[in-house]
Amino acid sequence: MKENADFKTLCVHAGELKDEQHGGAISPLYMSSSYAFNDVETNQYPRYFNTPNQRGLAIKIAALEGAEAGMIFGSGMAAISTALLSHLKFGDHVIFQDDLYGGTRNFIKHEFPKYGIQYSFTAGLTATDFENEIQDNTKGIYIETPSNPTLKIIDLKAISTLAKNTDLWTMIDNTFASPVNQNPMAFGIDVVLHSATKYLGGHSDICAGAVLGSQKVIDRVFESAKNLGGSLSDYTVWLLERSIKTLFLRVQAQNQNAQLLAEFLADQDWIDNVYYPGLPQHPDHEIAKKQMKGFGGMLTFDLAPHLDCKQFLLGLKLIKPTMSLAGIESTALSPRLTSHALLTETERIAQGITPQMVRFSTGIEAIEDLKEDLIQSVNQQH
Ligand SMILES: *Cc1c(COP(=O)(O)O)cnc(C)c1O
Repeated sequence: MKENADFKTLCVHAGELKDEQHGGAISPLYMSSSYAFNDVETNQYPRYFNTPNQRGLAIKIAALEGAEAGMIFGSGMAAISTALLSHLKFGDHVIFQDDLYGGTRNFIKHEFPKYGIQYSFTAGLTATDFENEIQDNTKGIYIETPSNPTLKIIDLKAISTLAKNTDLWTMIDNTFASPVNQNPMAFGIDVVLHSATKYLGGHSDICAGAVLGSQKVIDRVFESAKNLGGSLSDYTVWLLERSIKTLFLRVQAQNQNAQLLAEFLADQDWIDNVYYPGLPQHPDHEIAKKQMKGFGGMLTFDLAPHLDCKQFLLGLKLIKPTMSLAGIESTALSPRLTSHALLTETERIAQGITPQMVRFSTGIEAIEDLKEDLIQSVNQQH
């Protein structure tokens, strides 16, 4: 494939393996967990993250993020925990934004104290909020934009500039945007993390994760990864490669549906608030326009006070009230009752999570069918 290939072409072809034996059209699947010993290169072994399929997929996802190298993991949390632990040691300090994916927050709170790693959560999301938390032993900054569930935007360039001036590394969880909509390394962020369970997989049938960065970063992550052992089975690696071939098409359709739905909801009298970075009235719309290629398939809204949130979700017929997100089917949930149930009410209020809030993951269904389903559920309460 030529250098600087288009994103759509990379989705289909980057990292593909040739079927030398039979000339088949797709990457062959090599399930071997044992390979002939080769004393020149590192031995090939699934937990060394270097089987043919694992390496091919790492090349593909790295290409989509414009990264030099990548590694594929057994889950998003395996990627996140391994990336963090490989960059931190006893006595180090790291800064996290306050509204973080719940699993990441639990990992930090539960595991870091055992390893003597210190951390702070920021008060807000500006570069100054991050700067305010810097200590003598601070090593890095960890962000997530758009954030979950209120879809706030962090200025990537401002954060990477702050980090470079203060000699810190930066990591981003780019799951919500997907590589279709945002490539943080182009704005100077060092390490990109994905829960591939979401948009990269896209069909709610794969659990996987990825870490992307320079070769130096990936070498460092590998030193911890081989000990922590969070590799992904080659069969799932192969399925994920297949899924990513349609990544651009899927996410483009989800972007379009989410934008139309956000505009529709903003006009409804049964809606109090719509949170979508693609709406001009979103407080961070200008930053989003600067750093995102599309505004994403995630959108959040507050139901008007006369509606019962739980009844609204249970009243949906086409849209599934589930925890999962980013699949080709639309899903909705109440952050207060599910994804953010473990937070205290004070923590939820600090992150702007209201009792009437619905987080919506837009699928690729016909937009009229989605609107109709939302309206019929509202009408059940009249
Ligand atoms: C789902 C998710 C994760 C965790 O990924 P798993 O694959 O479930 O381990 C991390 N970050 C974000 C933003 C997510 O949505």
